[in-house]
Amino acid sequence: MRPGELRGCDVRAALRCAPRKRGQAPPTTIDILVLGPPGCPPWSGTVALVPKPSGRGAHVCPACPICERAREVLRVRRLYGRPVLGCGDCLKFRTRRQVERTTASWRRSGGEKEDRFLRLLRRPDKTPELLEQARRLLLELLREDRARFGALAPEVDAMIEVLEPTGAAHSPRFPFMPNQQLVGPPRRRRRPRAGD
Ligand SMILES: [Zn+2]
Repeated sequence: MRPGELRGCDVRAALRCAPRKRGQAPPTTIDILVLGPPGCPPWSGTVALVPKPSGRGAHVCPACPICERAREVLRVRRLYGRPVLGCGDCLKFRTRRQVERTTASWRRSGGEKEDRFLRLLRRPDKTPELLEQARRLLLELLREDRARFGALAPEVDAMIEVLEPTGAAHSPRFPFMPNQQLVGPPRRRRRPRAGD
């Protein structure tokens, strides 16, 4: 269970553990307290349980308190200072993939791999295979970052050569030199007058 989320699998696990008399109908609501994400108070209240088609049958899912549709994940967000429980559509929650997948940084600068790496680390079942997968992904990210930096180095050197055509591209003062030029010479201090 992650703070700020109510997952259908956790609800089903809790229902399996709850004592029930023989022949008693399964509950249609659940009274629950969901911890908020950092900086958000917890949400408490009653959530309806509704059947959701799954394979050949159906399983029980919490219903979004706002749109009343069966949802596998509900989230707590702080709205106007109060915690609100709702589905991604109602709370306009978007994953990093949904926000960034059309950007160049996602496709060409390692954004997708970085997201995958962080998702792997957030998973509760950290098996040795999963950690090995994360390690390989991290090495791949570092290798690609170094290659991108290496490809940029001649362009950066050429730019500095234009700004300071004295072979200063390899000066130990880089990268502070361009800023020093922008700032200009230090101001003269006003000479103190009589009476100051
Ligand atoms: Zn909803």
